[in-house]
Amino acid sequence: MRCPFCRSQNDKVVNSRTCQDGESIRRRRECLDCGRRFTAFEYIEMAELRVIKRNGQRETFSREKLRHGIALACEKRTVAAEDIDNVVHEIEKEIHNRMDQETKSIEIGEMVLKHLRTLDEVAYIRFASVYRSFRDVSQFRDAAVNLLKKD
Ligand SMILES: [Zn+2]
Repeated sequence: MRCPFCRSQNDKVVNSRTCQDGESIRRRRECLDCGRRFTAFEYIEMAELRVIKRNGQRETFSREKLRHGIALACEKRTVAAEDIDNVVHEIEKEIHNRMDQETKSIEIGEMVLKHLRTLDEVAYIRFASVYRSFRDVSQFRDAAVNLLKKD
């Protein structure tokens, strides 16, 4: 952080304190060049994630919608609800980590596929058939064949 007095960027944290129910952290910093101290606050930024749909429309990312889509693909399979929650959590983390507030729905679909592939093969095929909207039987067969090859 740049020192407000001498503009140097060499500083060290001398004290950290969590405030307001843990939603922010107050840090006391000391400039290593001029020795003066200043305070900085660190807040969590939960930027709203947006999804760009295939038709170009934007909508707010919905964890519930994602979970629902995955749960549908896993219907009547032996996938634990906890596993589905984990996949949702992993994907949400992945989207957040991109530092990009907008993600294409197709990319999210590919993330889901990556996880389902190791979780349950039938769920994977089901999800793929919806998400990639196979145009005909041969596309579906290709996906199934690719699945069987599995690296
Ligand atoms: Zn300074």
